Amino acid sequence: MPQWAGAARRGRGLRAGAIYAAEALTVREDVSVDVLERLPSPYGLVRYGVAPDHLKIKSIVSALRQVLEHPQVRFLGNVDIGVDLTVAELPTYYDAVVVAGGAAVDRRIGVPGEDLPGSFSAREFVAWYNGHPDAALDAFALRARSVAVVGVGNVAVDVARILAKSADELRGTDLPDHVLDVLSRSQVSDIWVLGRRGPAQARFTTKELRELGELAHADVVVRAGELELDEASQAAAAASPATRRNVEVLREWTLRPQQGRPRRLHLRFLLRPVEVLGPESVTAIRLERSRLDGAGSAVGTGETVTVEAQLLLRSVGYRALPLPGLPFDEAAGIIPHAGGRVVRDGTVLPGWYVAGWIKRGPTGVIGTNKADARESVAALLADAPALRRAPVRDPRAVSELLTARGVRVVGWAGWQAIDDAELALGAEQGRERVKIADRAHLLRVAGGR
Ligand code: NAP
Repeated sequence: MPQWAGAARRGRGLRAGAIYAAEALTVREDVSVDVLERLPSPYGLVRYGVAPDHLKIKSIVSALRQVLEHPQVRFLGNVDIGVDLTVAELPTYYDAVVVAGGAAVDRRIGVPGEDLPGSFSAREFVAWYNGHPDAALDAFALRARSVAVVGVGNVAVDVARILAKSADELRGTDLPDHVLDVLSRSQVSDIWVLGRRGPAQARFTTKELRELGELAHADVVVRAGELELDEASQAAAAASPATRRNVEVLREWTLRPQQGRPRRLHLRFLLRPVEVLGPESVTAIRLERSRLDGAGSAVGTGETVTVEAQLLLRSVGYRALPLPGLPFDEAAGIIPHAGGRVVRDGTVLPGWYVAGWIKRGPTGVIGTNKADARESVAALLADAPALRRAPVRDPRAVSELLTARGVRVVGWAGWQAIDDAELALGAEQGRERVKIADRAHLLRVAGGR
């Protein structure tokens, strides 16, 4: 029987890519798939990235669970590819490998002061509030009165919304108790979301933008002067209904009277970060006012603006990490490939495939990974008859090797124990689920099965 593997690795990633690859592989009845996951739990960003109040998106878990419960699929959690099992070792056990490790690290703004205490990536904040086992429980105290969020993509909108909501508004979600506790004591009154270009160039989607206007605990503040469109922006808005709707929503908000809510969420445009001011920890961010150059880019005007902030969240996108033993395109931040087949120095590496953010970069929504994974799996299945077969064909061999190396592999039963424990914690509080955030705790619970 041929065997294939969907391998996932490190930190943050749309692990949905691995699961969609597994789903596409199981159309063939003679295929067995191992989904190798660094964390003790499956679902990657669906569990640890999607905002806790986006329950509809989170419900995608039930479709992903069906894939992982398929009789031809085996979940092997808490296995770090490149550490517990090297790239060179995988072909001993698998005829083919699909790497779907996502984008694990942050892009940088590239300004002085970026590393001052009080400056964090949005990824760190998202990981903390979502109870990611890599995030320290006390990573955020939210004693800042003013928070600057650099970037105007959907992640910036997510973190701004979570900061703007009251703890009571979020109590119905799966947020861990320690996070709700900090949110209930949050001192934040002003949140500044800062775009370096204009509203027509913003990356957020209209549905996510609109939610900011429905906040019970915060007024949205937008300045009409920052919404003026140059010719290129007008053309962009004419060509894209999504862009036009974004601009319309923002313009409506300039006309709306403020309601005196406890928090204010300021959406600012045409402000390019120049420096994060300290000296000991973040106190403000200095920005240069920009103007659009007629071609969609922004150029500095020389005028500077300072926004006071004691907490800075850098939300300027992610990058994938190289996987030792596989080629990596540093400039694009992806594993180079041709239609999903990994390519080294212009030549296809037989038996190696990529899916998700490590294949195409950190763009698109969860569903984007379905078509993306299908393309890679179609290539794999087309190549299958000519691929070298793995010499070790007993599926127990890989889990035995990992156990012999001291790896506490979390199988599906282990994950179900975690799932049950989280649901039970939720039931105690009249909530659907309360996430367990501590890695040792997760492993202890999983170890019971
Ligand atoms: P993103 O959409 O690429 O947005 C990154 C933002 O950072 C852009 O506004 C970009 O501005 C800005 N930026 C980059 N470098 C900068 C710099 N040096 N200084 C100032 N600003 C800078 O990335 P993301 O928000 O991390 O989202 C990643 C992906 O996840 C996206 O596809 C997103 O749609 C998806 N996502 C979806 C949801 C949802 O569906 N609800 C939620 C979260 C994330 P420029 O455009 O000027 O470069």
